[in-house]
Amino acid sequence: MIPVTKPFLPKVHEFEEYIHSIWERQWLTNNGPLVNELELKLKSYLELKHLLFVSNGTIALQIAIKALGLTGEIITTPFSFVATTNSIVWEGCKPVFVDIDEETFNIDPKKIEAAITPQTSAILATHVYGNPCDIDAIQEIADRYSLKVIYDAAHCFGTKYKNKSVFAYGDVSTTSFHATKVFHTIEGGAVFTQCPELLKKMALMRNFGHDGPDEFSELGINGKNCEFHAAMGLCNLKEVDEILDKRRLLSFYYWKALGDLEARYPKLNGNLDYNYAYFPVLFDSEDLMLRCLKALENEKIYCRRYFYPSLSELPFVTSTYLPVCDSISKRILCLPLYHTLTCSDLDLITRVILRVQNYDRPVVNGKLNHTIPVNNLQPVFAGLQNGAI
Ligand SMILES: *Cc1c(COP(=O)(O)O)cnc(C)c1O
Repeated sequence: MIPVTKPFLPKVHEFEEYIHSIWERQWLTNNGPLVNELELKLKSYLELKHLLFVSNGTIALQIAIKALGLTGEIITTPFSFVATTNSIVWEGCKPVFVDIDEETFNIDPKKIEAAITPQTSAILATHVYGNPCDIDAIQEIADRYSLKVIYDAAHCFGTKYKNKSVFAYGDVSTTSFHATKVFHTIEGGAVFTQCPELLKKMALMRNFGHDGPDEFSELGINGKNCEFHAAMGLCNLKEVDEILDKRRLLSFYYWKALGDLEARYPKLNGNLDYNYAYFPVLFDSEDLMLRCLKALENEKIYCRRYFYPSLSELPFVTSTYLPVCDSISKRILCLPLYHTLTCSDLDLITRVILRVQNYDRPVVNGKLNHTIPVNNLQPVFAGLQNGAI
């Protein structure tokens, strides 16, 4: 069986050492030493001054919205995980969906301005699959209309934009350290900001608003994380460079093997060190995608339709017609990608897909009649040494 993803598990004895230390200290949660150590190590790894470790990526979004004091309408993307929209609605704001770019699948900055009203307070965009949005264009619009910017960077651990962690952008960035993400703490997440006052506010909000044992300076919530999750994070952080390398090699192998497929891939932002968080394939038709999905399931290979359906069709939002997102979300499929996949797994997966595509195709002069899609989005097949995977 090949699932779409598998959580990384560190060596069990390394985790056990941390667990023994927790038993010795008997300090389980509430800003314990492992939580502090993880925050310090993450700041140093990511080369960022500020970050707060929180209980998950959804509460990270909620704290960001609350701390920025957002009200009214928030402009957002329909092409993301449901938590992006949920957190807006949960915080009593109205999501206003703007269609995505045909090539990057991120929110289309050219369409943002038309959606701004006097009620708009912010833009909440997702860097889909770890590929950064058009950050400069979004910031320019936000500055012109005095809007706040939040980035849902849940897919972005290890991604750099202009030589800085992508978490450094926006008024606040948030991420998730859920078990399915590139770097994980089982459950967990973080908020990032460059602004010390905002950081202080979010730190208070994370811990019920406690400002001293008997004082409360903010409306807060319980967004803390604990020693056990920090221990998993400390183990996994040591391995994360290797995990990122492996995903890059696997992705290149896929691109090469799928060269003949009638499909394309998201166009990666320039100025980028990419983390290869997912392997999305945009098929030319929904029919071909569905036939591939079925054929793969017959071989016990399980993919996911990330992201389908469009978030603008959720039952608790105002349904919005967004032709690009509607079309892309119907045709997209994420193929399996995780650190223990092998070349022969990829050979099997790609063979099944190509077999489905080529099955009905007319043969002309003894050759399959199809054109190889010109794919300027495909990085050069380099760096993959035979047997390196
Ligand atoms: C995973 C994810 C989240 C939610 O993170 P949790 O830690 O599971 O709460 C939010 N947004 C996006 C885009 C995600 O992929």
